[in-house]
Amino acid sequence: MAGIASFFRQLSLFDSAPVEAQAPAARPSARSAWADIPAAQRPNVSTVPAPGLDSLLEVAGYNQGASTASSFADLCRGPYAHIQVVAGKRLWESWRVAWTRRHEALRLDIPAMLEEAPREIKEALLEWAVLVTRRGGKRDPVLRARRGDLETRIREHLHAPPAEGTQPTGTAGKRLARNRRRVQRLEPKGAHHDLDASFRAVNERYFEGRLQAKLTWSARLGGLSTHSLAQDGEGQPYHLLSISRGYDNPEVTPEILGGVVYHECLHIAIPPRREGGRRVVHGPDFRRREREYDHFEVWRDWHRYGLPKALRRLRKAKSR
Ligand SMILES: [Zn+2]
Repeated sequence: MAGIASFFRQLSLFDSAPVEAQAPAARPSARSAWADIPAAQRPNVSTVPAPGLDSLLEVAGYNQGASTASSFADLCRGPYAHIQVVAGKRLWESWRVAWTRRHEALRLDIPAMLEEAPREIKEALLEWAVLVTRRGGKRDPVLRARRGDLETRIREHLHAPPAEGTQPTGTAGKRLARNRRRVQRLEPKGAHHDLDASFRAVNERYFEGRLQAKLTWSARLGGLSTHSLAQDGEGQPYHLLSISRGYDNPEVTPEILGGVVYHECLHIAIPPRREGGRRVVHGPDFRRREREYDHFEVWRDWHRYGLPKALRRLRKAKSR
């Protein structure tokens, strides 16, 4: 289990965050939780997951016993009276807190599904918000342990499978249905190339066969090639490499296809890191390893010049 936990932690850093996900730390008057959490522990509370990570949540966010639920409005009293809770449609497995500009209130951003969470999860969120914004709390080992405990509880709730016999409701339900369809749509065999074969070859040659991933051709025509984290029917996470349809083309050689598969594989091997508040995805180490691909130049040229043409042709063929 510990393996899986660290797996999540690493990977949740991966996906490119939307612009609004940038830490508000740059604003001098705003003290935010993001700035308080060591980079290594930060991902789940500080990043907004991109689409790939959303699938992690396909089993999250059910109405687990509405009878025990109290609204945040009821709970934001006393020690929590200064907290504004904002449910975000775009947050799925992360939450964050920051002082508002004038320091008079804490703004706690949460995934919308947590509005339906049981009371103890909501209280855990509020306590967490107060803890991480407290001055000096970072150095106090007792407070740090408590915070970790709260984060684990919230995360477990977000990842919890639905209770027997219950149906997820609302946005969570829609999300779940969509991701189920997504899992079924894995399509490694294209009209011209088999991604599984390409992955096996790349994995053997460059990663000692140790990488684990599932591959699919991108569902959309103009789709880019991406690496994301998905979840199978049993709730096990896996790396999903989605390869642009443009590569499923008769002029693409196995060497060219291997180049894009290798690039996406490298994202598994070299997870993004944080540097001075910025996410580094294609850092110098990544670029160096990328050049170790045997046919790097051939691949890069096709990626730059052949792929856009191939995608245009595909689009034209489809619109006819
Ligand atoms: Zn990349």
